Amino acid sequence: MSSAEVVICGAGIAGVSAAYHLTVRHGVRSVVLVDDQPPLSVTSDKSTECYRNWWPGPGDTMVRFMSRSIDLLEEMAEESGNRFTMNRNGYAYLTADPARAAELERGAREVSALGAGPLRIHRGLPDDPPYPEERFDSLDLPVTGADLVLDRERILRRFPFLPPDVTALLHLRRCGWLSAQQLGMYMLERAREHGLRQVHGRIEEVIVSDGRVEGVRLEPGGGEGTIATRCFVNAAGPLSAEVGRRSGVELPLHNELHGKVMFEDYLGILPRELPLMLWCDPVSLSWSDEEREELAQDPELRWLTEQMPAGVHFRPEGGRDSRWHLLLWTYHLEAREPVFPPAIDPYYPEVVMRGLARMVPALAEYLRPGIMRRPYVDGGYYCKTRENRPLIGPTPVAGNHLLCGMSGFGIMASQAAAELLAAHIVGQQLPDYAGEFLLSRYEDPAYLQKMKAMASGQL
Ligand SMILES: Cc1cc2nc3c(=O)[nH]c(=O)nc-3n(C[C@H](O)[C@H](O)[C@H](O)COP(=O)(O)OP(=O)(O)OC[C@H]3O[C@@H](n4cnc5c(N)ncnc54)[C@H](O)[C@@H]3O)c2cc1C
Repeated sequence: MSSAEVVICGAGIAGVSAAYHLTVRHGVRSVVLVDDQPPLSVTSDKSTECYRNWWPGPGDTMVRFMSRSIDLLEEMAEESGNRFTMNRNGYAYLTADPARAAELERGAREVSALGAGPLRIHRGLPDDPPYPEERFDSLDLPVTGADLVLDRERILRRFPFLPPDVTALLHLRRCGWLSAQQLGMYMLERAREHGLRQVHGRIEEVIVSDGRVEGVRLEPGGGEGTIATRCFVNAAGPLSAEVGRRSGVELPLHNELHGKVMFEDYLGILPRELPLMLWCDPVSLSWSDEEREELAQDPELRWLTEQMPAGVHFRPEGGRDSRWHLLLWTYHLEAREPVFPPAIDPYYPEVVMRGLARMVPALAEYLRPGIMRRPYVDGGYYCKTRENRPLIGPTPVAGNHLLCGMSGFGIMASQAAAELLAAHIVGQQLPDYAGEFLLSRYEDPAYLQKMKAMASGQL
């Protein structure tokens, strides 16, 4: 039987980041990372790979946590020669509804006041503040905060492909995307240099005796059998609740399926130099009268004729010469048991394209028969707590730690989350937001009260 100081279950971005922080940043010598799947291949390579420092309250916990994570990502980008191509291309939230524009302004004032950076408002008046420069596929632009543009002409000058009724743009600046796969590989290489051992296998049971972790048992056939350890980390992504049950802890987690379309804009409708573009209004898909009537008569498809939720979004993927874009829209939000590979609605690419045509009317060209080339579709699960904050730190079972519930922000949060987990494990001083990520927060009446007012911040 082998042994380890720490055994991490799951080589997704959470587990790999934990391995990196423990070995490289804290010098923990004997860390074992267990997974029966290749690193980052379950959820962490299905992501849109975006990040933002812009998070709602109440309280500044999420803003500070994500800002810390982005600080660490930037540090690693610097030290690695930006191996994971992190950029600061921004996020653009758009609406054609004046009431929602007012909501965007109210929300932006709130998040700015929580520490996410200054809010500059552009109304098309002579005393408007200057509009900070955009610089694409670069990190070399220290602009933060957000620009709220209430001047339609300016919005359409910058994004001429938007519909003429667009009313407001909220342009978030300390945001962008990166390659999660490259980030993961960089951390794995560094962690291996510092002694990380990877074990191929599935953890069947966490052995708990007298309320404390004693080891893990792997499924038979993996060659490793049992690994003795007094410190276990549950970073099992969408299977964290199941792994929790096998380690003596019930976890308040559920899974939501989110799909993603990789689409080739071979007609060249969309420019390349864009932020992530998100439409904040609910959308009614456009159909011919005939199609609408046919769909309305089919109980399984009637929903396609009804109002669909807000949030359809896209971003360019690849460099300036690429024509690919990632398109996303989660129009069915429901908790479900994870299955692999996830079953994605066969209509998904067409529905997303129809939704996007509200934001970019010229994309309707692809809805003509035979025009859209077959897109590539994948997706994965957001593993979430009720209030959409992760679970990081110890549990009532001594030595049993959590690094899960990473929802739709696991790539961007990976560094602050793993840093926090490592601080718990090595007994380092904790940041003052640590308590809001513990499992025990649900026993704190003040937290439960605060939770009632929390917005999920989910895209
Ligand atoms: C469509 C989509 C878009 C997204 N967009 C973004 C985004 O723009 N920005 C962002 O930050 N995040 C985004 N996310 C979220 C992000 O991808 C996840 O939060 C993150 O990948 C979760 O990482 P993880 O390590 O927790 O889980 P995973 O990557 O799923 O890794 C968990 C690992 O645990 C292993 N495992 C499970 N059980 C066991 C066991 N018993 N024994 C051994 N190993 C086990 C699994 O095999 C797996 O490899 C998106 C997600 C989706 C689905």
